Amino acid sequence: MKHHKYLIIGGGMAADSAIRGIRKVDQDGAIAMICEERHPPYDRPPLSKSLWKDASLDSIWRNEHGLDVAIHLGKKIVSLDTQKKTATDDAGNIYTYEKLLLATGGVVRRFPDFGDDIVYFRTLDDFRKLHKVSEHASDFVVVGGGFIGSEIAAALAMNGKRVTMIFPENGIGARVYPGPLVKFLNAYYREKGVTVITGETIRSVRPAGGKTAVTTSSGTEILVDGVIAGLGILPNTELAVESGLTVDNGIVVDGQLRTSNPDIYAAGDVANFYNVLLAKRARVEHEDNANVMGETAGRNMAGQSEEYRHLPFFYSDLFDLGYEAVGELDASLDIVEDWKEPFRKGVVYYLREGQVRGVLLWNTWGQVAAATDLIAEKATHSHETLAGKITD
Ligand code: NAD
Repeated sequence: MKHHKYLIIGGGMAADSAIRGIRKVDQDGAIAMICEERHPPYDRPPLSKSLWKDASLDSIWRNEHGLDVAIHLGKKIVSLDTQKKTATDDAGNIYTYEKLLLATGGVVRRFPDFGDDIVYFRTLDDFRKLHKVSEHASDFVVVGGGFIGSEIAAALAMNGKRVTMIFPENGIGARVYPGPLVKFLNAYYREKGVTVITGETIRSVRPAGGKTAVTTSSGTEILVDGVIAGLGILPNTELAVESGLTVDNGIVVDGQLRTSNPDIYAAGDVANFYNVLLAKRARVEHEDNANVMGETAGRNMAGQSEEYRHLPFFYSDLFDLGYEAVGELDASLDIVEDWKEPFRKGVVYYLREGQVRGVLLWNTWGQVAAATDLIAEKATHSHETLAGKITD
C-alpha cells in the first residue's frame, strides 16, 4: 500500500498542470500520478499541428523533473474506495490518498464494426503510428470534419499526401464556423489538393491486397494506405460513476472544482463546470482549459479556495490559416462577420439575444483578452456596433 497526500489519476495536460498547482502551495506533500499511457505528460496540440511542420518530438514533453512526483506509467486505476480513500490499479497496487484528482480526459468515439485498421487520432502513439505509415505511403482517408479531421487532413496534405475527407456535415468545421466561411474552407482544402466529401460517412473498411478499401455511405470505394478518424470524444467518467460521484455530461464539479465528494476533484476534458462568464455549465475539450483548470484544482487540493472563473480560449491551424477563439463558438447562434479581407483575416462574433457569447479571431492575433472582455461586458450588440470593434 502506497500512501500519498495527493493522488492524480490521469497523465494529460490537466494532470500535469495540477501537479504544478499543488507544488506552488505545498512543496513537500507526496504526490503520485497514475497514467494509463506509457508516456509521461506531453502537450497534445502539436500532434495534429506543428509536429507535421518543423517541430521536433522532443519539444512536446512537459517535464516533471524537480517536482518530486511518483509517476506510474502504463497503469490504470480500476476502482476507488471513497470511504477508505484508496485507489487500486490494474496490477493490484493500492494507493491511499488525502486528496484525489480525476483528470481522466476523454475516450475517442469509434465505429463499432470496422476493426483496428483505423487510427482514432488522439495520443502520441497514434501520432507515431500515423507518422511512420506516412513516411512510405501516399493515400489517406480522414473521417470527420471537426478539429482532428481538419487539422490532420491539412497536415497530411502539407506533407504531399493525397487525402480524402469524409464527414456528415455540409462542410469543414460546420458546427463551429459560419456558413460562408465553411464554404470557403471546402474550396480552400480542395485547392490544396484535398478531396472533400460532404454529407456522408463510411459504410465499410476492409483490407484489400496490402491497401485498405473504404466504402462511403453512397457506395464509392476508395483505396488508401491509411484511415484516420476524429469522431469526437466521450468524457471518461467510468470511475466517477462507479464511485457514486455526480456525473452529467462529465464529472460535475463546483466552483472550486470539487466533485460531489469534497476530497475528490476533477479537471480538464472530463469536468463539467459552471462557466461564470457564460453563466452556464460546460465541458471544454481544449488545451487552455486543461492547463488553467488543472492548475486551479491543484492549488485547491493543496488548501486554497479559488473559484475557477476562467473563460478558456482555443486555437487551430489549417494550412496557412490560423486562429484563436474564445467563448461559445456555435454555428447555430446569431453571427456577425467582420472581415478585413474575406475569409483571410477578420473577426466573427457569435451572439445570443444580442449578447456576444463567442469570438473567432481569424488570423487576428493578440486579441483574446479583448474578446473575453467583450463577452464579459454582456452589452447588447448588432452588426453596426461590432464593425471594427476588435482588430489587431
Ligand atoms: P469534433 O467534435 O471536433 O469533430 C467530430 C467530427 O466527427 C464531426 O465532423 C462529426 O460530424 C464527425 N463524425 C461523428 N460521427 C461520425 C460518423 N459516424 N461518420 C463520420 N463522421 C462522423 O471531434 P474531434 O475532431 O474528434 O476532436 C476530438 C477532441 O479533441 C475534441 O474535443 C476537440 O475539441 C479536441 N481537439 C481540439 C483541437 C483544437 O483545439 N485545435 C484540435 C484537435 C482536437
